[in-house]
Amino acid sequence: MTAIDDLLALHMVDKQARGLRSRVENAQTFLNAQQRRLDELTSTNEELVLRSKTTRASAANLETEAGGVDERTNKLREDLKNSSTTKQYNAILEEINNLKESKSKIDDRALAELETIEQLESQIGELTSKIAERTKVRDTAKGELTERTSEVAEQLAVLEAERAQKASVVSNDVLVVFDKAADDFEGDSMAPLAEIDRRRMEYGCSCCNVSLPFNLVNTIMADGNVVEQCQGCLRILYVTEEVRGALVKK
Ligand SMILES: [Zn+2]
Repeated sequence: MTAIDDLLALHMVDKQARGLRSRVENAQTFLNAQQRRLDELTSTNEELVLRSKTTRASAANLETEAGGVDERTNKLREDLKNSSTTKQYNAILEEINNLKESKSKIDDRALAELETIEQLESQIGELTSKIAERTKVRDTAKGELTERTSEVAEQLAVLEAERAQKASVVSNDVLVVFDKAADDFEGDSMAPLAEIDRRRMEYGCSCCNVSLPFNLVNTIMADGNVVEQCQGCLRILYVTEEVRGALVKK
């Protein structure tokens, strides 16, 4: 086995393991998104409930205030009946009129508060059903994650062991390059050479399409133990049997 053969073997197992892990990660990402949305809805709902409570308290205060004004007005009406002078009569009448005006202002405010409460309650109602729906989705996502995790656990353990074994024959320097490329490209750490023009010995990276210098291509073609990176994407370059075969036939 050449160094490139070792890397290709590692690449295969590494990619399988990544594929399995990404199934779990996708389920986790989905669950996180559902949980986040649910948290947002819940916090908005809490805000509305608080506002509704404050508004109710304010409406209750206004009611008490209005009751006080009514009481005072009734008393003044009695005074009006018993008033002995015109001056007194007019003064009481003026106060009654002033009270009427403030009562009407209080009533307007109370009405506005009641409308606000109604709106808040309807929003809270909508939110409550949204929260219930989202909770269902979140719970399903939770179940899915648990299921997937246990589904792949065994298989993943086998692959991890296999991967460790394949990685053990690769030098540390090369492994760093390999892992970096694998992380950058979702496991696609190895780039096969692509033939651009065989007669002119023009080859490129089949992953990022950068064309590669003749010397580099020559070195890779000649020795399977040479580990070189693509100058464009930094994946590890290799020659497929197909490309090599085509070259030999020439
Ligand atoms: Zn490339």
